[in-house]
Amino acid sequence: MNPAPRPDLTGMTIRRTLRMDGPVHWPGDDGYDAYRKPLNPDLDPRPAVVVRAAGPADVRRAVLAARRDALPLAVQATGHGTHVAHDGALLLHTGAMTSVQVDPDRRVARVAAGTRWRDVLDATAPFGLAPLSGSSPDVGVVGYTLGGGLGWLARAHGLAADSVLRAQVVTADGTLRTVDADREPELCWALRGGGASFGVVTALEFRLHPVDRVYAGAVTFGRDRAAETLACYRRWIERVPDALSTAVLLTRDGKLVVKAMYAGDPDRGRALLAPLWRAAGPVVDDGMRVVEYARAAMGGTFARTFDQVRALDDELVAALVAEPDAGVEIRHWGGRIARDCGAAAHRDAPLSVILDTVPSPRVAAALRGAGLGSSFLNFLPDPARTATAFTPENWTALRRVKAAYDPENFFRAGHAVPPAPADPNYLPCGSAALSAATTLS
Ligand SMILES: Cc1cc2nc3c(=O)[nH]c(=O)nc-3n(C[C@H](O)[C@H](O)[C@H](O)COP(=O)(O)OP(=O)(O)OC[C@H]3O[C@@H](n4cnc5c(N)ncnc54)[C@H](O)[C@@H]3O)c2cc1C
Repeated sequence: MNPAPRPDLTGMTIRRTLRMDGPVHWPGDDGYDAYRKPLNPDLDPRPAVVVRAAGPADVRRAVLAARRDALPLAVQATGHGTHVAHDGALLLHTGAMTSVQVDPDRRVARVAAGTRWRDVLDATAPFGLAPLSGSSPDVGVVGYTLGGGLGWLARAHGLAADSVLRAQVVTADGTLRTVDADREPELCWALRGGGASFGVVTALEFRLHPVDRVYAGAVTFGRDRAAETLACYRRWIERVPDALSTAVLLTRDGKLVVKAMYAGDPDRGRALLAPLWRAAGPVVDDGMRVVEYARAAMGGTFARTFDQVRALDDELVAALVAEPDAGVEIRHWGGRIARDCGAAAHRDAPLSVILDTVPSPRVAAALRGAGLGSSFLNFLPDPARTATAFTPENWTALRRVKAAYDPENFFRAGHAVPPAPADPNYLPCGSAALSAATTLS
C-alpha cells in the first residue's frame, strides 16, 4: 500500500501563506543555519522552516499554520534544553521575545517567552529581590520553569514552577489564554512544572523572593578523602537549615568540590559548613564569598544521567569514588521543595546524582540499588523517560489536562505528555490534584 501523501513541507503552500511580523527562514536562507541549531553539538536538525516570533500574534500564526499544514511544531528559546532534532518541523524560535517587568511592591516579575535569567537577575537585583533561577543565567526562564526549575534557592523558596502565578499561553486550538489559579486552574496547574506539552507560553508571571546577598561559591579539596566526605555528607544533610543548599562534586581532574549557597549570615554559613570541610581535608581553593545573588553564578555539571536516590549508601559511595573518569554531582534536595506540592518532580527525594558520562556497570547497579527510579524533567535528556519525572498521580492528572486542551497531541516535541484516552466520565483532573494538595497542606 502506498503511504499517505505528505504535505510539501518546504513547498509553495506554506511559503505563500506564512505571514509573520518576525523573520521567517527557509532552508538555504542566511538565518536558517543560525537559528535552527540547539546548544547540543550532536544535534543537526533540519526543520522545514524557522519562524522567529516577534510577539504573541506570531506565536498564534505559527501554531495555526503548523496545524493547517500538518507540520510538527517545535519551540526553542535558547536551545539549552533541546534533546531531539526537530527535522521537518516548523521551528518556532522565541529568542526575540524578551522583556522583564518588575513590580517590587507585589514582588512579582513578568517576562516574555524568550527571556533569559540574566535579564531577570539584572532587573530584580536593584530591589533586593531574587527569582528562583538556576546555575546558568543564559538558560531561558520559560523552558526552565516549565520543567520544574531547580535553583540554588530551591531548598529555601521552592522550585521555580511553584512560584508561577500566571501565564499567557497559545493552546493547540490557536487561542491565546490567560491562565492562573482562577482562570483555567487545571491548565495553570499543569504549566507549573508539567513541561512544554500544553501550549506555547508567550509570557510568564512569577513570585520574587527577598534575597539580596548570599554567602556562596565552591571550596575545592583533593579527592583522596572522598569516601569519608560523602559518608559525612550523608549524615550532615539531615541537620542543615533550608537556607543552605549544597552539592558535592567529584571532578575528572581528581578534585572534590563542595558547592554551597547560604541565604543568611556568612559566619553562620561558615560554621554550618565547617564539619563537611573538615571531613574533606586540606583546602586547595576557597571560593566562598559574600556576593549579590544575581552575581553568584554557580555553574553545573553536564547531565548525561540523572538519578534521585533515597540515600548515599555505602555501595553507592564506594562505586562513585572508584570512578575517576566521570564527573559526578551529588545534590541535596528537600527543604521547601519537599513541603510544596505541584505538578513538577518527585518531592520526597533527598538527593540526586548527576553523571557526565555513561555510568560503569558498578555505578549503574549502585544507582539502581539506592535509586528511587524517579527523575527531574530539566535534567532528563531522554524523552522516552518523561513519565519518570512525575509521580504516577501527577502523570495521570497531566495526561487528563493534555486531553482537555490538546486531544490530538499537537504539542509532542521533546518531553511529551500524551493525552489520556477519551473518558466520558472526565472530571477536571488538575482540580483533583489541586484538592489533594489542599487537603495535604
Ligand atoms: C548549562 C545549563 C545549566 C542548567 N542549569 C539548570 C538548573 O540549575 N536547574 C534546572 O532546573 N535546570 C537547569 N538546566 C536545564 C534547563 O532548565 C532546561 O534544559 C530548560 O529546558 C532550558 O530551557 P531553554 O528555554 O533555555 O531551552 P530550549 O532548548 O530553548 O527549550 C527547552 C524546552 O522548553 C520548551 N520551551 C521553551 N520555551 C517555551 C515556550 N515559550 N513555550 C512552551 N515551551 C517552551 C521547548 O519546547 C523545549 O522543549 C540547565 C541546562 C543547561 C544547558
